[in-house]
Amino acid sequence: MLVFFNPTYEEELDDSGNGFKAVIPRALVKRELFTCHGHPLSGHAGRSKTLDRAKLLYYWPGMDRDTRIYVKACRHCQQYKPSQQKKCAGPYTPHNMTTPWEVMCLDLMGPKPASRSQFKWILVIIDQCTKFIELFALTKATSTRIVDKINEVACRFRHPDKIISDNGPIHKYYI
Ligand SMILES: [Zn+2]
Repeated sequence: MLVFFNPTYEEELDDSGNGFKAVIPRALVKRELFTCHGHPLSGHAGRSKTLDRAKLLYYWPGMDRDTRIYVKACRHCQQYKPSQQKKCAGPYTPHNMTTPWEVMCLDLMGPKPASRSQFKWILVIIDQCTKFIELFALTKATSTRIVDKINEVACRFRHPDKIISDNGPIHKYYI
């Protein structure tokens, strides 16, 4: 058996002598890659994990390339592993607005450092059409207080057809 000194980064640092690897002849490369990737106990790890595993014990010229090709071509992975590629966002659809306060946007900022009167939260209410903004200081960010403020603004201007907010529970209480 031919042995090659090819330590991984960690092995080079720890000085344990584990840097010696068995040199794998070309004819056995596929079998070793199967052991490191395709075997039921190996768990079909990704390219870099498979390569790390192979480098712990073996060395052969072109390890990186062979591992990449083997993992890419693995039928099991192609069939069962979800794609890691990022999906493109859908096309932007503009909001059709006709009148002010048709769509109300809400956001809650905080908790901020408390004021002397114990106000910690800022409720931001924006009319999506005109971008008119109203800000309200709140001591507590409870649904009832937020709904009170929405009603206050809605009574002054008009009740919105739609409210956009990332704070889901508000919608439940607003009638
Ligand atoms: Zn696989």
